[in-house]
Amino acid sequence: MPPLVTRFAPSPTGYLHLGHAFSALDGWTRARAVGGRFLLRIEDIDQTRCRPEFEAALLEDLSWLGLDWDGEVRRQSDHFADYQAALDKLQTLGVIYPCFCSRKDIAAATSAPQGPDGPVYPGTCRHLDPALIAEKQAAGLPFVLRLDVAKARVLSGNLAFTDEHAGRISAQPEVLGDVVLARRDTPCSYHLCVTLDDALQGVTLVTRAEDLLPSTHVHRLLQALLALPVPAYAHHRLLADAAGQRLAKRAGAPSLRSMRDSGTSAAEVRTMIGYADPIFRA
Ligand code: GLU
Repeated sequence: MPPLVTRFAPSPTGYLHLGHAFSALDGWTRARAVGGRFLLRIEDIDQTRCRPEFEAALLEDLSWLGLDWDGEVRRQSDHFADYQAALDKLQTLGVIYPCFCSRKDIAAATSAPQGPDGPVYPGTCRHLDPALIAEKQAAGLPFVLRLDVAKARVLSGNLAFTDEHAGRISAQPEVLGDVVLARRDTPCSYHLCVTLDDALQGVTLVTRAEDLLPSTHVHRLLQALLALPVPAYAHHRLLADAAGQRLAKRAGAPSLRSMRDSGTSAAEVRTMIGYADPIFRA
């Protein structure tokens, strides 16, 4: 068995809350329990939403929580060239296409089925005439690059992966539709960067919340296309508050630092989410 390598990969778009602490502790305890490695990666490709002060805050909050990490922190914004090379490879395979639809167009398309993350792209630009694409691009119309999932699937073999809780899963990358892999203000998407980085950093077990399970189906397809190793996965349940509401930044979950400021200790935070001292495991 190769040594266990886990990671925590937050985006510095806000302060960490209990859900993040749970994910981080999950990866950290698994690695530390067996002498493996725990990596920290800053997922800051969306430069319109990420802020350096949130990055500084998350490093501080993780340390306060009692976590440490191995090696250098990888910051995605330092690696745009790696992601571009992967995009180029996908372009060569002929599995990406420019899409000129706005979010509004997609939401308004009556044919857009609802997926786990909102409306699934109905494929309007999937087979645009190359001359029309050239014309739109020459006119400077904004576009994103999408993955042609059906075409990509034809090029890929068996798309299985293992989740610790759900078992062996046959990936259904269609679930999120033709996902966006790059846009003008964010030259590569979460899906591409996370898949590439987990491979480049030698992550053997991806631990993250179960709301990202649909994304894993897409990541498995990208692994096949880019000939990347397939890690094991452990998608954990989402934490809920006392009222049963899922903890999420958008829902205004209290941040770790606001809890700290109001007198909650790191040990109390850990205990609250099932990671009691001394080894942070309940
Ligand atoms: N940056 C992503 C997030 O914060 C990471 C998800 C993952 O662990 O793959 O949701």
